[in-house]
Amino acid sequence: MKDTSNASNSSPENQTMFFNQALQFINHINKILIKTKSQNSLMREVIDQISNNNNFHSAWIILTNSLGTEKRFIKSSNGGKPNAIKRFDKKDFPACAKRAIQNNKILVRNKLEENCSLCEISENCLSRHAFIIPISSSNTTFGCLSLTIPEKNINNKELINLFNELGEVIGFTIHKLELASRAKKQQKENIKKLKQFELVMNATNDGLYDWNLKTNEIYYSPGWKKMLGYQSDELPDDLSAWEQLIHEDDKSKSWDMAKELIDKKRDRFEIEFKMKHKDGRWINILSRAQATFDKSGNAQRIIGTHVDITERKKFESNQIRLIHDQQVILDNAPAVIIFKDTNNNIIRVTESVAKLSGIPKKEIEGRHSSEVYPEMADQYWEDDLEVIRTGKSKIGIIETLPSSDGKKIWLRTDKIPYRDENNIIKGIIVFSIDITDLKNAEHKLIEKNKELTKSKLKAEESDQLKTAFIQNLSHEIRTPMNSIIGFSEMLENPLLLDDKRKLFRSIIIKSSNQLLSIVNDILTISSIDTNSEENCFENVCINKLIDDLLTISRPNKSKKVEFKCVKSLDNKESIIVTDLTKITQIITNLLNNAIKFTHKGLIELGYSLKNNQLEFYVKDTGIGIGKLHQKKIFERFRQANISTSQQYGGTGLGLAISKGFAELLGGKIWVHSTIDKGSTFHFSIPYQKAEVKPNKTLDINISSKLNTILVAEDEPFNYLLIEEFLVNQGFTLIHAKNGEEAIRICKTNMEIDLILMDIKMPKLDGYSAAKQIKQFRPNLPIIAQSAYVLSHERDKYSDLAFDDFITKPIDVTELKQKLINSVS
Ligand code: ADP
Repeated sequence: MKDTSNASNSSPENQTMFFNQALQFINHINKILIKTKSQNSLMREVIDQISNNNNFHSAWIILTNSLGTEKRFIKSSNGGKPNAIKRFDKKDFPACAKRAIQNNKILVRNKLEENCSLCEISENCLSRHAFIIPISSSNTTFGCLSLTIPEKNINNKELINLFNELGEVIGFTIHKLELASRAKKQQKENIKKLKQFELVMNATNDGLYDWNLKTNEIYYSPGWKKMLGYQSDELPDDLSAWEQLIHEDDKSKSWDMAKELIDKKRDRFEIEFKMKHKDGRWINILSRAQATFDKSGNAQRIIGTHVDITERKKFESNQIRLIHDQQVILDNAPAVIIFKDTNNNIIRVTESVAKLSGIPKKEIEGRHSSEVYPEMADQYWEDDLEVIRTGKSKIGIIETLPSSDGKKIWLRTDKIPYRDENNIIKGIIVFSIDITDLKNAEHKLIEKNKELTKSKLKAEESDQLKTAFIQNLSHEIRTPMNSIIGFSEMLENPLLLDDKRKLFRSIIIKSSNQLLSIVNDILTISSIDTNSEENCFENVCINKLIDDLLTISRPNKSKKVEFKCVKSLDNKESIIVTDLTKITQIITNLLNNAIKFTHKGLIELGYSLKNNQLEFYVKDTGIGIGKLHQKKIFERFRQANISTSQQYGGTGLGLAISKGFAELLGGKIWVHSTIDKGSTFHFSIPYQKAEVKPNKTLDINISSKLNTILVAEDEPFNYLLIEEFLVNQGFTLIHAKNGEEAIRICKTNMEIDLILMDIKMPKLDGYSAAKQIKQFRPNLPIIAQSAYVLSHERDKYSDLAFDDFITKPIDVTELKQKLINSVS
């Protein structure tokens, strides 16, 4: 074998002729190559052409595929048909071919070489002279063509170049065919895949589309059309199909997405929109797409899928609705519900938790318990842990929660473990009911019970007190009654000496007064109790009152008790506006008690002005009162102790009346006392200084203006008493025994100057009689006389045409003053 550059032993004419023939041959081959469809037919055509050309003795082609894994071989001798293409094993590759391929250069062989005998195809090399032409393209050699020729042409340089070109043209064509075959294969593969994909899409009822952006054609898979209710031929394969079916509201967002894909602003998109089904309903579509680009980066296609998610959407919205409904139920449930994990974190709560604790829901959920209710977290956690540890619910725990306004909220709580699908405890659910109202009611009930027990005890005590009071009262009434009855009988005795008679009479009067005082006390306390007691203010000279009371209330001489009084204001300053009856009764009660409970020493009555209040005191050196009783003695029927009451008597009403009166006058009453040392009772009343007017004197000659008095009185003894006094004073009296008589007498006796009218009378009572008399003698003074001493009763008399009022039993001094008043 010889290198091509050295070969030149044929005549120039022959060579030129051969060259021209070779040129024609290559041209011919070129034409064939253009039409050739496959590598194998190319091999066959080339070998066929060589066989039919007289210039060549024989030829063969070896081709490998681009990976070098497949080798094919074809051969032919002059005039014969190409042999069948055969697979060729690597070890059988001829040495010449190896070299030509390796060097990518034509080999010119001038004789058969030694190792040709070893070559499997050497029998196909019918001439010693041959060209081994590498077949290559783009610097890759993938085969070679062997041509055996007559010796004379072996060294023609142009021929070699021509064959070189032939190798390249064949190489190019083979390469082109290879690429085309690969593309076809790929296409086949793609179609196969697409079909498979379509199958899947059809099976899942989803749709596939492939939008060619250059032609604007769109391939809609049959599944895509079916999904919308159409047959394959019912919708056009272009954008109009999509445009006419998509919901108007979703159009722009879909366009925007596609544009972003084309502009490479996103790799892929996933959106949801609505499309109209053939049957008119809207279906929900999930659209996913991706774009493909050419080498220059221009978008070529958008390929995507459409999935009908209507059912899924419906399911999702049902789920959302369900969750929402659950939340609404939970939020409106009266129970407080808390979901906690096993680390004491609060996962979820109902609205009621927020309401109850005053903490917004979002500040509770996701927090650790200690952040939400720091004071209680540890306590709650103990129960939680027990539930988590044992896996058993804890029911009916009574616990408290501090509310935002600092009040205590009472809860009745059940704690239940909650587990995952593997039955592993994931946390606990806490159900609590606000039982604050219940607890408060329970608390109130307990308090009420306590109160009731207290009231019961008080009632029992009060019953005991009443019994004691009644016993005392009967004793207090019996004692003077006995005297009255006993001494009244003795007065019957005509032989009774005058001195004794006088003594007995005074005992009877004293006992009667004592009785009267008891009756008055009882009436007074009941009127204080029923709030019927009212003040009757007038000017009162306190200094004079003290003098009068000290004169009246004197202990009997057997007692070694001194009396002292302290008046801290002068007479004029001591005249105040107050209720004389009430203040008189308070001081009298205190003085009488001091006298009763003091056996020796001093009793001091006085007053002082403090902070515009007159503060009175009655101080004694008597038996004193124990601390325990000092408050109680101001209650009704209360006496310090039984032995005292047995020894000293009394009804236990005096101090209660004094307290009631002091308070009615706008003041208060209290005591300081030490057993066996004595007591000081204090009471205060407002110091309201009076405007002093000169008092009417009794000196006036009343008989000049007042002569005849009609006394209307049904009780003979009462009339006797009045008669005794008024006749002695020089008045003329006329007696009427009832209201009717009083009216009649008044009508016929114009000389009557005044009427003393009893209220309770038979036939016609005093009120009615007075009213009628006033109609025909409006200026005739009428003074009511009654045993009903209550102040509101008194007001009633003045309303009813009475000019004045006098209480029974009649005090003569008072009566005299009333008579003077009536004529002045
Ligand atoms: P009475 O004296 O009719 O029992 P009071 O209401 O006036 O009722 O007094 C109630 C009780 O207070 C008396 O029974 C007596 O135990 C006690 N008490 C009142 N004043 C004195 C006093 N000056 N010294 C000692 N005990 C007194």
